[in-house]
Amino acid sequence: VVGHVETIDTREFELFDGVQEVVRVSEPYKLTSRTWKREKSVITARGVEIGGDTVVVMAGPCTIENEHQVFETARRVARSGARVLRGGAYKPRTSPYAFQGMGVDGLKILRAAGDEFNMATVSEVMEISQIEGMLPYVDILQVGARNMQNFNLLAALGQIRKPVLLKRGMSATIQEWLLAAEYIMAGGNYEVILCERGIRTFETMTRNTLDISAIPVLNKISHLPVIADPSHAVGRRDKVMPLARAIVAAGGDGLLIEVHHDPEKAVCDGPQSLYPDQFARLMDELKIIVPAVGRSI
Ligand code: PEP
Ligand code: MN
Repeated sequence: VVGHVETIDTREFELFDGVQEVVRVSEPYKLTSRTWKREKSVITARGVEIGGDTVVVMAGPCTIENEHQVFETARRVARSGARVLRGGAYKPRTSPYAFQGMGVDGLKILRAAGDEFNMATVSEVMEISQIEGMLPYVDILQVGARNMQNFNLLAALGQIRKPVLLKRGMSATIQEWLLAAEYIMAGGNYEVILCERGIRTFETMTRNTLDISAIPVLNKISHLPVIADPSHAVGRRDKVMPLARAIVAAGGDGLLIEVHHDPEKAVCDGPQSLYPDQFARLMDELKIIVPAVGRSI
């Protein structure tokens, strides 16, 4: 029961047949909490299970630029073992003069590449009006860091029945992040994947500061799958691989990584995008690390 529960007398429920115990969830986050659901949630997107034994890698370009770029990148990351193809069609750019994304035309390319290489797709939704048009092409809807507290958008995503990848806001506490997830779940959509992507700190040598500690903290208090994005966290491709190793070692259920078939020419986030060869090497490294923490990849 969620809502104004102070007025409820728990004894009324204890009298029902089959009720062993009535527990009041004292945390402000309820549906996201282990108190409400003890066992880990496994979320399935086009046959790919996130939160299960297998660590899932999502990879692809920052933004969808054209068919050649998406297909080339998808071909390479799929061959290395990525199961989910990423690519933005609606881009939250810091400058209004920067490329804003291809919209639905881009999503059609993403879907076609996903089908070709047998991958699920993930792409960012920025506003309510985009949701319906995205559903035919996207298996996971991403809420970006800048929209983590766009409560109207979160509530609208609670009304659909498709997984939502909720990125951590760049200044959000873990509790605020869980309450954002709660907005989606309160609408009845329980398919939420949390994604740590770095927070703003006083540090200037990295784009953001990856909060590795969020992974074990969340794994303890929440049943939701937790993945992390080392690309947006650090902002430089030479640092992405060590962070990716740390994420799986810390118990992350997956990774979201920017890869571009030709990063020098990328329209967006080229400096942090891995070359396909680097991505292949990273996947080989992960195959060694992941079994050491009791998972498969
Ligand atoms: C992205 O994944 O493309 C993105 C914009 O990330 P974030 O919202 O974490 O900045
Ligand atoms: Mn990006």
